[in-house]
Amino acid sequence: MAEKRDYYDVLGVSKSATEQEIKSAFRKKAKEYHPDLNKDNPEAAEKFKEAQEAYSVLSDENKRKMYDQYGHAGVGGGGSQGFGGGFGGFDASGFDFGDIFDSIFGGGFGGGFENYSSASNSTRAKQGSDVLMRMDIDFEEAIYGTEKQFSLDVVEECDECHGKGGFDSTKCSTCNGTGTITTKQQTILGSFVSKTTCSDCGGTGKIYKRKCSECHGRGQVKKNKKITINIPAGINTKDRLRVSGKGNPGSNGGSNGDLYIEFIVDGHEFYVRDNDDIYIEVPLTLTESILGCKKTIPTLYGNVKLNITAGTNSGDKQRIRGKGVENKYRKHKGDMYVLFKVYTPKKLSREQKSLIDKLAKTDLDTQEIRNFEKFVENND
Ligand SMILES: [Zn+2]
Ligand SMILES: [Zn+2]
Repeated sequence: MAEKRDYYDVLGVSKSATEQEIKSAFRKKAKEYHPDLNKDNPEAAEKFKEAQEAYSVLSDENKRKMYDQYGHAGVGGGGSQGFGGGFGGFDASGFDFGDIFDSIFGGGFGGGFENYSSASNSTRAKQGSDVLMRMDIDFEEAIYGTEKQFSLDVVEECDECHGKGGFDSTKCSTCNGTGTITTKQQTILGSFVSKTTCSDCGGTGKIYKRKCSECHGRGQVKKNKKITINIPAGINTKDRLRVSGKGNPGSNGGSNGDLYIEFIVDGHEFYVRDNDDIYIEVPLTLTESILGCKKTIPTLYGNVKLNITAGTNSGDKQRIRGKGVENKYRKHKGDMYVLFKVYTPKKLSREQKSLIDKLAKTDLDTQEIRNFEKFVENND
């Protein structure tokens, strides 16, 4: 195989292209190189395949991340084999290509894409679709990472018949064992030979004399699986983890799709999280704010001492570098921001009141106060 081209180059998009830009770039290429529209151009099929492969990686957030980091090696070892069977197997990302092709060809082909791929392999293994599951986790679990266990019904190959659905097979007489029925179709773009899957044998070309009683001929059974996931430190709301092979079942021997777990992280009584930065409000007394003080600040990784300068106001902010979230998932360290709030006492003892009265007789003006008073005067 010739050296693989960069996937971004293949689609003609930049490395920072959005999901939408990638999708529309692929649509354009797919339209240009679709084999049904390029019967006399053998190169088109190659280009089409190449675009499809690039799209299957760049449209998948996780695969794209792997590709950005490790190149072709990160997403299947450099050869198309890595995706499980080359052409036709590229919907391994769980993306339903039928969807995009329906919208490109408007159904005028009667499933043009399906016909093309089934022409090369009538009982094409189809990978199951992906499943998205949402999971609530505590603030602390998200910060420090944790292990979670849950059970899930997963449809898998029947052990009894090894996914065949029956025993003692004979050749299907409807399709003569080929699994496909060939018909010629007239369309606005010319005539096409289309192959459809034989409905009697489901495209296998075989009929079973004895149905498997375990799976009732379906070849698949539902199993309750215990799943353990390691949630890396720093995960945040909307982050997703992939559990390979625990999605919906495939057909014709295709593997299961993947399970994606999307997290919803709970809030915290004192901390507010903004990506990897952490905000905390620290209350100050009137005298602490006027005179300055030393305060113990609780960070996610233990307490630290902080010098509060004299004259600190409500709303003032101080940054503690590197004391935000140590995000192992994104390999990034956030900062901590301390927000001060001065709490003025509502009740004073007689002694306190007389002290404050004394203070009030002194000049406590600041430039802001003087500016404001000037404005009031001039407004009159
Ligand atoms: Zn079975
Ligand atoms: Zn048949």
